[in-house]
Order: sequence, then C-alpha cells, then structure tokens
Amino acid sequence: MIVLNNLSVIYEDETVGLENISLEFTPGEFTVLLGASGAGKSTLLRCINLLTIPTRGQVIVDGLGTLNNPKALRKHRQKTGMIFQQHQLLPRQTALKNVLIGRLAYHSTFRSFFPLPKIDQIIALDCLDRVGLLNKALTPVKQLSGGQQQRVGIARALAQQPRFLLADEPVASLDPGSSHKILANLKKICQEDGIGAVVSLHQIDLALEYGDRIIGLAGGNILFDSHPSEIKSQQ
Ligand code: ADP
Ligand code: ADP
Repeated sequence: MIVLNNLSVIYEDETVGLENISLEFTPGEFTVLLGASGAGKSTLLRCINLLTIPTRGQVIVDGLGTLNNPKALRKHRQKTGMIFQQHQLLPRQTALKNVLIGRLAYHSTFRSFFPLPKIDQIIALDCLDRVGLLNKALTPVKQLSGGQQQRVGIARALAQQPRFLLADEPVASLDPGSSHKILANLKKICQEDGIGAVVSLHQIDLALEYGDRIIGLAGGNILFDSHPSEIKSQQ
C-alpha cells in the first residue's frame, strides 16, 4: 500500500506543484489521475517514486518511509515502477537490452552485464512477451513504432517486479487505437499480477473506460476522488 501524508511540493520558483495532498493507493486497483496540463499529475507521480522529493509530507510504501537511506530508496523505487510519456529508452539498444537495463538497476548484485544472469534474461523476455513484443526482442528500439516503444517502457518497468506501476501520460503521444490497446494491456497485466497502477491521463473518456478510481487534480489540489460510475451518473 502507498500512503501519502500531507504532501506538498513547492518548486524553487515558488510554483505550487502539489498542495497538502493525502491519498492511499492499494495493490490491484487501477487509479487514474485526471487533469489538464499543469494540474500536478507528474509531480504527484514523481513524488510517489521519490524522483521529486516533497517539500513537506511523507510517502510511505508498505509501511516504510525511506528518504535518508540510499539502499531503502533503491528498494522504494524498485517497488514503484515508473513508465514515462516519452518512454526514456536507449534508442540504439534492443528492446531486450532496454528491459534488462531497467531490471538490473534494481536486481543485480554485480551491477554488470557480463555475463548476464539467465534468470534476468528469462524475466525480461517474459515481460516483453506480456506486452506482445517477444518477436521484437532483438530489434533496436528506434526501429519500433511509438506504440511499440511505449510497450517496451511498460515491459521495462514490469521487469523490476514492482508492487505499483506509475505511468505518466503513457498514451499522450499515441493515436486513439494504440491508446486503447496500451491501456487495456496495462490493466490486464496489473490485474493478473495484483499490481496497483496509478496512471495519469488528460482524456476523460479513457479515464472512465479504464479507471477503477478517478482522482481529479487541478492547481496541485484534489478536486474529486470517485468511482467512474459516480462521474457517469453526473454527466
Ligand atoms: P501535469 O503533470 O498535470 O501537467 P505538473 O506536475 O507537471 O503537472 O506541474 C504542476 C505545476 O508545477 C505546474 O504549474 C508546472 O508548471 C509546475 N512545475 C512542474 N515542474 C516544475 C519545475 N521543475 N519547476 C518549476 N515549476 C514546475
Ligand atoms: P502503433 O504505434 O504502430 O499503432 P501498436 O501499439 O498499435 O503500435 O501495435 C502495433 C501492432 O501490435 C498492432 O498490430 C497491434 O494489434 C499489436 N499489438 C498492440 N498491442 C498488443 C499487445 N498487447 N499484445 C499483442 N499485440 C499487440
């Protein structure tokens, strides 16, 4: 479980990123953060992963708050796998290598690629299989389509065996058909593995279709925290 206690982020130029947010996220639940550009979605996701350190408040994952201990911070990040809008892959490396790099950042004791432990290769290939890309494992990422690259990004996060997947506008740069396929696949994987997902979107139709829970954000504040049926009944 993720617990956020009175989280605030004030950036150096005094922009308010988040204002006194308290939320809980449970494994197995697919939560959508819905909001316009600048609402605070990225800031919230980056705080959960501790890529951004909150100005005030606490982030607790499975009962542990971490901040002052590098080993605990690495464990925290392993448990909260991040998927980025621009997927942040290494374009000249193969899909498999990208997924392995994501995994070894958290699971290798040697921090070395040579020789690669077999178990890591098996897990990386399994993750590519689950996003439908086993046949592209040895293709350099720059030769893949946008949707395929995003799926490599999902496989990379999955390979770190997280308890939660955090996805920051994962379908923002994709056409509607690919967006639906990616979100349906992501939701299925999370359900199968009991992973909690926190996914930011700016399209209400996608939020209503895939969210088990929808949190509306604006100006760094929570506008609503609802089940999709409550929102549909008000439309
Ligand atoms: P969203 O993901 O919903 O588009 P963000 O979390 O990126 O929103 O941004 C929330 C607010 O914080 C916006 O006003 C944005 O301009 C501001 N912001 C985000 N990152 C920074 C930063 N590094 N420095 C200053 N302001 C920032
Ligand atoms: P594009 O960016 O080219 O639209 P897509 O993500 O739509 O890329 O995928 C390209 C092809 O892969 C399509 O033929 C689509 O049906 C197939 N595909 C998409 N998602 C999956 C998946 N999760 N599992 C298997 N095949 C998929």
